[in-house]
Amino acid sequence: MSALLLENISHGFGDLRVVEDLTLSIEPGELVCLLGPSGCGKTTALRIAAGLEALQAGRVTMSGRPVADAEADVPPEERNVGLVFQDFALFPHLSVLENVAFGLRRRAAGDRERRARAALRQVDMEGSATVYPHTLSGGQQQRVALARALAPEPHVMLLDEPFSGLDTQLRGQVRDQTLHLLKASGAATLMVTHDPEEAMFMADRIAVMRAGRLLQVGRPEELYYAPADPFVAGLFGEINRLCGAVSGGEVSTPFGQVAAPALGDGTEVEVLIRPEALRLGPDKGSHGSDRSRATVLASRLLGRTSLVHLAVGTGAGQDLHLRARMAGRFLPAENEPLAVDLDLSQTFVFPNTKCG
Ligand code: ATP
Repeated sequence: MSALLLENISHGFGDLRVVEDLTLSIEPGELVCLLGPSGCGKTTALRIAAGLEALQAGRVTMSGRPVADAEADVPPEERNVGLVFQDFALFPHLSVLENVAFGLRRRAAGDRERRARAALRQVDMEGSATVYPHTLSGGQQQRVALARALAPEPHVMLLDEPFSGLDTQLRGQVRDQTLHLLKASGAATLMVTHDPEEAMFMADRIAVMRAGRLLQVGRPEELYYAPADPFVAGLFGEINRLCGAVSGGEVSTPFGQVAAPALGDGTEVEVLIRPEALRLGPDKGSHGSDRSRATVLASRLLGRTSLVHLAVGTGAGQDLHLRARMAGRFLPAENEPLAVDLDLSQTFVFPNTKCG
């Protein structure tokens, strides 16, 4: 049984439609990231799940129990949900321990403190139990917010951009710790983020949202290797776009034929090629070989990878300008000819929306 089930949720503010017919289920122990650009309705969906936003259409069910639908409207504090927000929302007038104990009000005093201390220990913050939140760093505040949300042992955790208030270096460290704590808690987690890399890092499954609608839900590798549309394909970094037309179930590219079996002859298409799909090697005068050739326009070391700008002949006058990404240090000289192999597992064909 799903720990959290959102069914056919639609929501608007005045004339503005914000969520359209969203259906998503999360299993106990599963971590799902709701990923999409700013303003696409992620936070609204999360607030509806929490009970912070009144439901307008659809149903929210937790462990089989409807908590919001045409009849039910269970208030947030009775939904057995832990919440973590971007700004951590700690109570400034309560100590760290009192903050964490706040959600345990219904427990006996001794049990309450024991549980709150245990939750602080889990996030390595027991030593700060008596201090006030404003004396803590952002990363420490985030850990206290997480401890406060986890302390009542909720079945569902809802996190809204929980790392965006932290600087880059700290973010990586806190993300890592949060992932392990959430997994150890066994709670079903829905986490809102606009950062694809963060979603890949955290999620068992990612639900991609755009303009109020879910475009695709799947494991990170499904989204990466089998994106359902160009928007999802382009989420994980810049992508090369070529235009073409289907002929005999294939599209012709400078790197050979690419299969387009589901599309009829004559369909105008865009071929999306990840930079890492262009495998570069020395050009040994590839006459007779089926490897394609390109000329280096520029190459730059970006750290763990190198980006190579290429001019690729199309046989029809103007060269294409494409970018290839190679692991490690790979810095061919300007104007050097290279051979190119295309990795078809990172090449996608969609009906044309941008060519023309
Ligand atoms: P962000 O990452 O920027 O928070 P989001 O994907 O979480 O974006 P929402 O916060 O759900 O998006 O907002 C979706 C749209 O609804 C936005 O255009 C926002 O301005 C609008 N909106 C959100 N809450 C309200 C509200 N209470 N009243 C009116 N409009 C709202």
